[in-house]
Amino acid sequence: MPCNLDEKLVDIEQSYRWLKSGDIKGETESTIVAAPRPSNYYNLFQEKTWKDEIESKCQLCKQHEETIDRLTSECPILAKNEYLMRHDKICTHLHYSICKAIGIKTTDKWYTHIPKPVCEEGDVTGLWNQAVHTDREVTANRPGTKKENMHTDRCGNTRNRNVVQKEAEKKLKYKRLCIEIQRMWNLKCSILPVIIGAIGIVTRNLRKNLETVPGKHSIDSLRKTAILGTSHIIRKVLQCEA
Ligand SMILES: [Zn+2]
Repeated sequence: MPCNLDEKLVDIEQSYRWLKSGDIKGETESTIVAAPRPSNYYNLFQEKTWKDEIESKCQLCKQHEETIDRLTSECPILAKNEYLMRHDKICTHLHYSICKAIGIKTTDKWYTHIPKPVCEEGDVTGLWNQAVHTDREVTANRPGTKKENMHTDRCGNTRNRNVVQKEAEKKLKYKRLCIEIQRMWNLKCSILPVIIGAIGIVTRNLRKNLETVPGKHSIDSLRKTAILGTSHIIRKVLQCEA
């Protein structure tokens, strides 16, 4: 996988830090690094090599090939709950740090924090998964975490090699909303995508984007949340099939 990443756009050093830093249990690391089902990798290899009619499709949806890349971010069966839960965990983490920074009362630990749909402190209003009502119709009107003087941010969790593409997509998707917000509220508005790959791949823009979002945000910590979510998904899939 590292060979397929574009060094100019992907922060390779940062993306693989979790393998060096040792803050993730060996058990979790091995769940992700080892093939979830070695027999199927062998099958996939055989099918590609010998053109055998061997089952290499996802056991859950039968739609995509069963590679870790696809299983951890592209399965429509897992998208309904498992990916959404992982996505929301990362957003909760981000939301918690923003709340802390702007003085909104919250819990001691981020993982016990439950984001409120709307929270306010002074002239700052934080929105969680709420539609922003605009005069002109905007289809992508739920920018996620926060609206304040100049920020609208949105967090994503995606297929490993797609992080760069996802980042561009988010910017495009919320562009109209951004223009509407500037127009309606007379504010400067920025779109700051926070995209973390299912196994921790991040873009070079991530650090810069996080520095602009209020609060202290650790890429290591956000990435750990993504990785724990992914290992949980892999374990669940393996248990289902056992
Ligand atoms: Zn699937």
